[in-house]
Amino acid sequence: MEFHIACIKGDGIGPEIVDSAIRVLGKIGSQFGHEFNYTDVDAGGVAIDKTGAPLPNETLDICKKSDSVLLGAVGGPKWDTLPGHLRPERALLGLRAGLGLYSNIRPAKLFKALLSECPLKEEIVGGGFDMVFVRELTGGIYFGERGRREGKMGPEAYDTEAYSITEVRRIGKVAFELAGKRNKKLTSVDKANVLESSRLWREEMHKLAEEYTDIEYSDMLVDNCAMQIVRNPRQFDVLVTSNMFGDILSDEASMATGSIGLLPSSSLGEGTLGMYEPIHGSAPDIAGRGVANPIATILSAAMMLRFSFNLAKEADAVENAVAKALEEGLRTFDIVGTSGATPLSTARMTQEIMDRI
Ligand code: NAD
Repeated sequence: MEFHIACIKGDGIGPEIVDSAIRVLGKIGSQFGHEFNYTDVDAGGVAIDKTGAPLPNETLDICKKSDSVLLGAVGGPKWDTLPGHLRPERALLGLRAGLGLYSNIRPAKLFKALLSECPLKEEIVGGGFDMVFVRELTGGIYFGERGRREGKMGPEAYDTEAYSITEVRRIGKVAFELAGKRNKKLTSVDKANVLESSRLWREEMHKLAEEYTDIEYSDMLVDNCAMQIVRNPRQFDVLVTSNMFGDILSDEASMATGSIGLLPSSSLGEGTLGMYEPIHGSAPDIAGRGVANPIATILSAAMMLRFSFNLAKEADAVENAVAKALEEGLRTFDIVGTSGATPLSTARMTQEIMDRI
């Protein structure tokens, strides 16, 4: 089969880790008889430097016409002082909204081989954990009305959290369906004791729970959830969250897996067009040194194979190769921990994973 992928390498370590994913996809292509074609497009800081805009129209147009989008990361100190609407991160919001990608799936799995790198005690994580965040991606406070105004105590700034019933139901359905394919357990995270938007969120989730009777459903307040992730991460299977809660909690869970450099994500809407990216940022502190962990981006490519291209066997092959490389003790610098392993470069780790496909 032939697939067209829009490739946004972005800033910082973006180009290094996207190149790794492309090499791995190349190996999959030759082994399983597929052709992956890439169109490089700019977004983020690199696009600002070239065109003055974080998300040029041409980039969005090409992404819309592709079978899927592979993204590295955007942003960096060079663009930190620009006004909000011109910052590299606006490109992400523009891509998500422009492509209608409302559902962000973020698996947080502790590989057995990395138990010793988990900052939590062994008696807490046991044989590892495997949870998935289903994060709403095109609503809530990141997209609500914002601004500056004169308040009771002088000048103030405000951001607005708003959720429609439609938005809550469609992300809820994604989460219930996913829970049905896994361990049939779903936790909905909200702040219904304080926020009206969370009360609506909870009402609609309860209605869905009545439709999906085979799913063990529960509510959890976000502050409790932040605590439970470090107290007992093994209690979770699928978690459904608003945009901001999912952003924060999935980073917390990522740290419990050993490194943020391990966690992939997919963003999907109604069709099969998706955007796939690691959950970490552009890591300016290590950019250009060839040491970034490529696993999050390689696993994002595996999610692309599974969700956008319906190539489950091929996705399994990538995921198994990553697990095998880790089991054999291969490590990039961020997951060396106490193992005593020699840290591998981005390129070498990529090659080792390819050799195990
Ligand atoms: P970050 O995720 O880039 O980095 C946090 C820490 O994790 C750093 O020490 C970094 O070196 C390390 N790290 C990240 N990825 C790694 C990898 N693959 N291998 C090894 N170590 C890795 O977060 P930050 O420093 O807060 O943000 C840097 C820039 O990235 C900012 O401009 C931010 O806005 C942007 N950002 C972009 C995205 C995105 O493009 N989706 C997401 C988050 C942050």
